[in-house]
Amino acid sequence: MSGRTRSLACPERTCVGCRERVAKNDLLRVAVSGDACVPDPRGTLPGRGAHLHPDLVCFDLAVRRRAFSRAFRSKETFDTAELRRYVEQNTKPVEVAAP
Ligand SMILES: [Zn+2]
Repeated sequence: MSGRTRSLACPERTCVGCRERVAKNDLLRVAVSGDACVPDPRGTLPGRGAHLHPDLVCFDLAVRRRAFSRAFRSKETFDTAELRRYVEQNTKPVEVAAP
């Protein structure tokens, strides 16, 4: 423990969208299933994972940068429809026009 100033209790990951380094708990794990990127909120899917803020801004950035292909070391473009739906449903709306 001596000499260590950083705690290992809070692992950090880089968001593949905005490239910010944040606590792993703040990010959604994304895994690959077939040729699709799927959300893995419980971190139970096998294989390589990418981490993303559950936010459409970061999602769009990641798609535009082909960050998922890079994260999963593939030349293919992954189907992100399911992931997008998940992010949409889990994004806390910032500006909501009251009905
Ligand atoms: Zn982000």
